[in-house]
Amino acid sequence: MTDHPHTTCEELLGSLSAYIDGDLDPQLCQELEKHLAECDNCRIVLNTTKRTIDLVQTPLEKPDLPEDVRERLFKRLNLDHYLTPKPK
Ligand SMILES: [Zn+2]
Repeated sequence: MTDHPHTTCEELLGSLSAYIDGDLDPQLCQELEKHLAECDNCRIVLNTTKRTIDLVQTPLEKPDLPEDVRERLFKRLNLDHYLTPKPK
């Protein structure tokens, strides 16, 4: 890994939470979106993550989601589910 012309899934997913928070460097953001356009896997993860966050962040009930819960959520989504090849 001397150079990274492409965002890898791992990199992308590592930045996903920052991306969703709008915290990501604009340039990285672009790379990430480019990658998302080409990678179904990451798109699914992003959508799922977003939806999950929407659910947990519903302001009606819980205005603040504690950091650690959030982190755990991301770790959890972090992809054993989607990225690990499922044994058949
Ligand atoms: Zn990917």
